[in-house]
Amino acid sequence: MKRIAIYPGSFDPFTIGHQDIAIRGSRIFDKLIIAVGINNQKKRLFSQDWVLEKIKNTFTEYPSIEAVCYDELTIHLAQKCNANFILRGIRDGKDFNFETSIAALNKEIVGNIETIFLFATPRLVHINSSLVREIYQYGEDIQQFIPYELKGRS
Ligand code: ADP
Repeated sequence: MKRIAIYPGSFDPFTIGHQDIAIRGSRIFDKLIIAVGINNQKKRLFSQDWVLEKIKNTFTEYPSIEAVCYDELTIHLAQKCNANFILRGIRDGKDFNFETSIAALNKEIVGNIETIFLFATPRLVHINSSLVREIYQYGEDIQQFIPYELKGRS
């Protein structure tokens, strides 16, 4: 059986921290689908379509990494993609607590999908989308935090 995983997130924007998790995940799974979701808590700054295109450009040399947008429950997307794994990254205790509940809930709804966690690479642990968004909104250059050119931003 092929090991198919989805790596869901808001990715608003997709950062080098996300890139690191995706590349490390691609060494574990036969196929990794990066899934750009809606964040119901806040309006996006970088549109889903723009992020999707940038992710696709980032991984042109990784045939096992794909990317999609979605607007449904992550487990429903996983089922549609025939994924048996959900990949998430853990940076700190806050991520851990949050992820524990989601993983448990997902497991209860669909028993056959396992959530797999990778710890953040220490030198990237401080990179998070909210901070990158904030400094961008105040006019600071964010190029060093993202793995693609910030041209044509929508
Ligand atoms: P959310 O899904 O909570 O909106 P994000 O889109 O920011 O979160 O991130 C998606 C996933 O990537 C989450 O599992 C998050 O913990 C992980 N992640 C975010 N930034 C990093 C980082 N710097 N290193 C490792 N994992 C990260």
